[in-house]
Amino acid sequence: HARRSGVGRIKVFDWVMREVAEHDMGVETGLRRSLEEKQFILYYQPIYSLSDRSLVGFEALVRRQRPDGGLDLPGEFIHIAEETGLIIPLGNLVMAEACAALGRWSMDMAASTKFSISVNLSGKQFSQPDLVKQTVKSLRDTGADPRRLRLEITESVLMDNPESALAKLRGLREMGITIGIDDFGTGYSSLSYLQRFPIDCLKVDRGFVSDMDDHGNRVIVKTVVNLAHSLGLEVVAEGIETPRQEALLKEFGCDFGQGFLFSRPLPHDKASAFLRSPAT
Ligand code: C2E
Ligand code: MG
Ligand code: MG
Ligand code: MG
Repeated sequence: HARRSGVGRIKVFDWVMREVAEHDMGVETGLRRSLEEKQFILYYQPIYSLSDRSLVGFEALVRRQRPDGGLDLPGEFIHIAEETGLIIPLGNLVMAEACAALGRWSMDMAASTKFSISVNLSGKQFSQPDLVKQTVKSLRDTGADPRRLRLEITESVLMDNPESALAKLRGLREMGITIGIDDFGTGYSSLSYLQRFPIDCLKVDRGFVSDMDDHGNRVIVKTVVNLAHSLGLEVVAEGIETPRQEALLKEFGCDFGQGFLFSRPLPHDKASAFLRSPAT
């Protein structure tokens, strides 16, 4: 009986581990094939100014098209892409695609129009020595304006190697690219990095936004907004699902927001149509 004998327990553990390993290997093989067969596509979630509900940009979110027509969300494959290094070719693909869309969408836009595309970078991508070069290449290939590209990284990515992170952020910022801290408030880093690193924006994690009935979470959101503004940073709230959440965020002075209340992430063509008539 597995529960009582230590040997049995080890067997069950081995079995579970093997299942996990085999599952991950299956996913890895699938990822390689998906890369070859160009099954990764980008969805774009609108980001709005909370003061007047005007569209200010999109966050690019990767999906995998399954042969059966379904879509896999990043939660199912990003961590394995990260572990296997496949995140590098995948990330380059995402960057190239996002810049291409940005170039197209910017074409008939006044230079003064506030509009940007945010691209998520994982730790391995950010620590690539040629990140800046790769990004420049994607921008040049597409003619996209670097000032309309925002890169989202998490706090832990910065803290992994602060020295090189600082140099990299400076390189990106010199080109006009802006930097957002994703899932802000969920990491373990000290606040001092906020003034040590050249960043532009904080994204309040969905976890805080979704539970603002809780007094503590409400205080945290309000405090993050004030902290960002005091440091001269913009704030974006993610995961806005209810009118009450929107109202509270507005009351707190949060600048921007995204969430199912406004729009789910959209496939490229829907995002294009949306840009032509962004009314919700
Ligand atoms: P994230 O960057 O924090 O992105 C926000 C996630 O919240 C997205 O999930 C989005 O679909 C979801 N979301 C937005 N509004 C709502 C809402 O109102 N309610 C709920 N329940 N969810 C909402 P998604 O697309 O599944 O992506 C998950 C994570 O995967 C992202 O979190 C990001 O960390 C990562 N990711 C996505 N695309 C890429 C990519 O191209 N490269 C890398 N490295 N990571 C990516
Ligand atoms: Mg993000
Ligand atoms: Mg986020
Ligand atoms: Mg998040």
